[in-house]
Amino acid sequence: MEYYSSHISKLIEQLSRLPGIGAKSAQRLAFHIVNMPAEQVEQLAGAITSAKANVRYCKECFTLTDQELCPICANPKRNHRQIMVVENTRDLAAYEKTGKYEGVYHVLHGAISPMLGIGPNDIRLKELMQRLQGEVDEVIIATNSSLEGETTAMYISKLIKPTGIRVTRIASGVPVGGDLEYIDEVTLLRALEGRVDL
Ligand code: ZN
Repeated sequence: MEYYSSHISKLIEQLSRLPGIGAKSAQRLAFHIVNMPAEQVEQLAGAITSAKANVRYCKECFTLTDQELCPICANPKRNHRQIMVVENTRDLAAYEKTGKYEGVYHVLHGAISPMLGIGPNDIRLKELMQRLQGEVDEVIIATNSSLEGETTAMYISKLIKPTGIRVTRIASGVPVGGDLEYIDEVTLLRALEGRVDL
């Protein structure tokens, strides 16, 4: 026998598919949502739908944006010859918050993970290599210091080395397995400034 109406069960099932939402949180959120005023629920649902419909990848750096080119790539004051490679848009946001990085980015949307079956072709690596055919002085690899992040950094460095472009890796001191977005700005800046050549 079903404990809840099938509508609630469906909502719980959908919510529990979201990252970081376990069965209990999904239940709590589902009951919260059905108790919300209808208007608020519509706003929430509308925001989800319109974000999905209007957000796309920047054609240059592949961050999430609502224009063809993101504001960073479109900015002529940024140093377009220095590219920082990050795993996701949240990591980009963390570096942008420091306000000290003047180059541009490349967002991989993931990291290589043999364990999870994620290979080089599953992230935006081809696109990075294409960008390097333009005029680039340095590629700063700022993937996380997790096993996946390190594997990805090694892989990218091996790919780029033959091109003669300078490849650097942000300094360690960023906690192992730590998501970049949770690291404070001072630590991020120190990691950037202390980057080493690969
Ligand atoms: Zn961009």
